[in-house]
Amino acid sequence: MDGSISPKPARPMARGRLFFANPGPTNIPDSVLAATARASIDFNDPAFLAVYDACFEGLKKVLKTKHHLFMYTASGHGAWEASLVNTLSPGDLVLIPETGHFSDSWAKMCGTLGFEVQQVPADWRRGVEISAIEAALAADTGHKIKAVCCVHNETAAGTRMPLDQVRAAMDRVKHPALLMSDTISSLGCYDFRMDEWGVDVCVGGSQKGLMLPTGFSFTGASEKAMEAHRKSTHPRHYFDWTEMLARRQKSFVGTVPTTLFYGLQEALRLMLVEEGLDNVFARHARLAKAVRACVQHWSGNNGPQLFCQNPERWSDSVTAILMPEGYDADAVRKIALERFNVSTGAGLSKLAGKVFRIGHLGDLNEPMIIGTLGAVEMALGIAGVPHAKGGVQAALDSLAA
Ligand SMILES: *Cc1c(COP(=O)(O)O)cnc(C)c1O
Repeated sequence: MDGSISPKPARPMARGRLFFANPGPTNIPDSVLAATARASIDFNDPAFLAVYDACFEGLKKVLKTKHHLFMYTASGHGAWEASLVNTLSPGDLVLIPETGHFSDSWAKMCGTLGFEVQQVPADWRRGVEISAIEAALAADTGHKIKAVCCVHNETAAGTRMPLDQVRAAMDRVKHPALLMSDTISSLGCYDFRMDEWGVDVCVGGSQKGLMLPTGFSFTGASEKAMEAHRKSTHPRHYFDWTEMLARRQKSFVGTVPTTLFYGLQEALRLMLVEEGLDNVFARHARLAKAVRACVQHWSGNNGPQLFCQNPERWSDSVTAILMPEGYDADAVRKIALERFNVSTGAGLSKLAGKVFRIGHLGDLNEPMIIGTLGAVEMALGIAGVPHAKGGVQAALDSLAA
């Protein structure tokens, strides 16, 4: 048979599970995988609608909102686009605090869609200064800025943005712009409170903290966002919230990805009932702390170091690791994958080759993190990258403490 149908395995020696430490997509729990293995069903069948409605309410619980939710058969990029074209009008000015690859990509999308973009420049390793956001808003006395678009968890840099502080800064200068937040790699990993923090529009996706296959994304929208939607003149069709509100599901223009909702029902059960959201957050914090303890140890001998230099901004869902000058991050990743069946994330845009990333979000426990760190430590040794040996021991000590 033609090799394209039955190709040779890429890693013929790989046995045991692939240890998947990418920051998205993430591991899918076995029970979620099993739940998605369903025959097709009419998306207006009452049996499906019962599952759908439970998921709709459950997802709002994870977002901590009582307001509106719109879902799309699209990855996170689709929800980014939906959020902009539903609430803004051509030529509107958006303020985008710089965090890294993902704030840059969102800014680029804004430009392509016909919005004016003002960035708040920042050092990716330290995270944007809240005072710089406040100064930009205070200077906008004519209220030209219609939205402040924040990446809650910058997956490329391993940093978090304190959204409550952004809201407080907006309130101090009494700026009426919408607060938009990308929660794609923080939701279900560490605390996000849409209503309490006054987030008007937030964007999430299925394949990160929610532990599902890639395939749908969504927007939470406040009453203020709905008011902006009614005034927005931007062309849209597939992502149009008004179109969606006319439908039974109040989401999806087109076919609903029914199998993903059976998976979501199980993922929500795991998060909200079996483990509990606060325990989910505590687990992420514990695993993240162990990964950082390991990397900080490696750095001892001029080895790889934490990319984020500001402890207040450390992300609990992903750690970006900066290689020593002159050493290739992708060479280490390749060894970890080919020799040990451990997959890590690459450096993005200007961090390509300089950074690799360990995703510690979603369906992970202590042994999985230890296994990943052990494989990376071996790969550092094989690749001849200087580092202080014993990072894994530092992680063990952190986890056992
Ligand atoms: C993954 C990610 C995206 C992009 O989502 P896709 O589902 O890949 O389209 C956007 N923002 C952040 C912060 C992400 O981590």
